[in-house]
Amino acid sequence: KDLLNNVELLPPDALFNIKSRLAKDSRPVKVDLGIGAYRDDTGKPWVLPSVRKAEKLIQQSTDYNHEYLSIGGLGALTQGASRVLLGDQSTALKENRVVSVQSLSGTGALHMAATFLAKVGHDKLIYLSDPTWANHKAIFEMVGFKTATYPYWDPATKSLDLQGYVSAIKSAPQGSIFVLHACAHNPTGLDPDHDQWTSILDAIVEKDHIVIFDSAYQGFASGDLDRDAFAVRLGLEKLSDASPVIICQSFAKNVGMYGERAGCFHVVFPRQDQSVDTEKVKAAVTSQLAKITRSELSNPPAYGAKIVATVLNTPELTNQWHSDMVTMSSRIIKMRHELRDHLVKLNTPGNWDHIVGQTGMFSYTGLSAEMVQRLEKEHAVYMVSSGRASIAGLNSSNVEYVAKAINEVVN
Ligand code: PMP
Repeated sequence: KDLLNNVELLPPDALFNIKSRLAKDSRPVKVDLGIGAYRDDTGKPWVLPSVRKAEKLIQQSTDYNHEYLSIGGLGALTQGASRVLLGDQSTALKENRVVSVQSLSGTGALHMAATFLAKVGHDKLIYLSDPTWANHKAIFEMVGFKTATYPYWDPATKSLDLQGYVSAIKSAPQGSIFVLHACAHNPTGLDPDHDQWTSILDAIVEKDHIVIFDSAYQGFASGDLDRDAFAVRLGLEKLSDASPVIICQSFAKNVGMYGERAGCFHVVFPRQDQSVDTEKVKAAVTSQLAKITRSELSNPPAYGAKIVATVLNTPELTNQWHSDMVTMSSRIIKMRHELRDHLVKLNTPGNWDHIVGQTGMFSYTGLSAEMVQRLEKEHAVYMVSSGRASIAGLNSSNVEYVAKAINEVVN
């Protein structure tokens, strides 16, 4: 009996709690800038046209069924996914140095990274950016890792603290694990530029650190898959003779598969010297990953995987998907400009250029927790207390309203 009587009551999840407060709010005009999910210009969730077509193809096919997938997931998904991420010209793929398995979206891939590293005996600190997506800390700590942070966002300049970042890499114990956002950093919307990535990755190579790339927004940020994969591909090039690289890939945002939990977990092995039998190492790693999946999920979810695989492997749908990503990213960019322009027109104190300079789903607005609270209480505009706003929640009908509300709480 005592087992349950002593269970500690935890606070509700901050992000999902916004959703439930918003649902209970009876004011006629409400704006949801909380959760990072794309909305169209009418404020509705958007099923990508490429996804609709893929679903039709799947349902019309003669082998349409709901059978179990294999433990490693759908091969057509994991192969297509590694091609999209690493690129057609990837030397790692050509040299057969990649092991890919399906995961429960990006969160599941990160959990797999944590579980796998714990299982193979890695006990070093996990370094996360300051700030980062709140779930990073929770996922790694849940399997027993300790986490630390590396400097990232400089609030004074609203830009990257490159010096702090690189010196944290250099002072971390050799062989530590660094989680890096592949693109569209959540929550800041601030990505290193190409030169900055070079400095960061060179420092990582120097210290033999292990990188986990979290790729949750490829193609969603700029509308271009290759452009958004720059950091991952540069990282693989630089680390190819040094350390393994882990990549956690989500299709939640770029294929709009939020609830279907389609994702992949990849391990890219470094080139080894003659004394190591890479095939044997790959087989051992694959077997460990299979054991994790078997004991936690038995096998990964099939429906979303089939949709994404169909999009990735049917040229006509792949083209449609590319233009769907441009539709989403350009609407978000347009909203960034409109919000900034309205704030400037209203003479709202401060400089708002960072809103258009940032990329991906979010803007780190710089609004204080108190201002965010007033936005919710007085204007029914909901966002995370850190001042992170999901720009996808803006549309042509509410952007001016939101700008006026921000203007009011700032003044
Ligand atoms: N990483 C980051 C940085 C994210 O923002 C998200 C989604 N919010 C994820 C991973 C994983 O999302 P999902 O599990 O829905 O794929």
